[in-house]
Amino acid sequence: MSVHPKKYLGQHFLTDQNIAKNIAATLSGTGYSTVLEIGPGMGMLTQYLLQHSYSTHVIEIDTESIDYLKTNVSELENRIIEGDFLKLDLTEYFDDQVAIIGNFPYNISSQILFRVIEQRHLVPEFAGMFQKEVAERICEKPGSKAYGILSVLTQAFYTPEYLFNVSRFVFDPPPKVASGVIRLRRKEKQELPCDTALFFRVVKTAFQQRRKTLRNSLKSFGLSPSLKEDSIFDERPERLSVSDFVQLTQKIADDSFPTQ
Ligand code: SAH
Repeated sequence: MSVHPKKYLGQHFLTDQNIAKNIAATLSGTGYSTVLEIGPGMGMLTQYLLQHSYSTHVIEIDTESIDYLKTNVSELENRIIEGDFLKLDLTEYFDDQVAIIGNFPYNISSQILFRVIEQRHLVPEFAGMFQKEVAERICEKPGSKAYGILSVLTQAFYTPEYLFNVSRFVFDPPPKVASGVIRLRRKEKQELPCDTALFFRVVKTAFQQRRKTLRNSLKSFGLSPSLKEDSIFDERPERLSVSDFVQLTQKIADDSFPTQ
């Protein structure tokens, strides 16, 4: 008996043992003793995680997969969380650092990443499989077309590495697109030297109109004429590094009459 793949849950089950083993091996295992796998499905990746010395927990939304895991992956014992990762408050289950890994459901992979960034104080390492294009975007440097919200918000707190490509033909059923495996390691500084909520708002607003200069795209911030003279506002968001965005946020926060 195996789990029937459900499209609405982004279920594409990995069929290649070697790839599963390689994904499990991407975690360094240092700086934490607990790992949480998102979306174990039938436990393809889980079986390899369980071979490592850290304690492996899983969170799965699909009751059919949970029944399968309870029957077939008995080593997990009581370390199965039944629920939606997007609604999970890590502090309710973990009181210490926990690495996160998964072969992520592609329809919610960016939201998973944002939830991790929000809960970064507990997550020193994050690794796993994304749609290739998304994996590339997360790792991209300023100046390229793919550089955007995902790149800046991730790189503000984590150092990303693109590790390897995965063909669509090692899944059942095969997804429409190729995949990529990445690893993020948390930076030493978990806070930015600026108002983080404002930083998020500036980055998102700037990239909503990525071809415009910041002077135009950030109009809604009601900036003073003198601040708008600053040459940083001649730039387009794709040319700004994380530290440029931090500086921009500081300037906006210090502006004499912002309306928001
Ligand atoms: N790890 C397995 C399955 C990957 S498919 C493998 O590699 O074969 C993605 C998995 O994520 C599915 O098991 C799906 O049920 C689960 N999933 C989808 N949305 C989820 C959510 N919001 N929270 C937790 N798990 C989720």
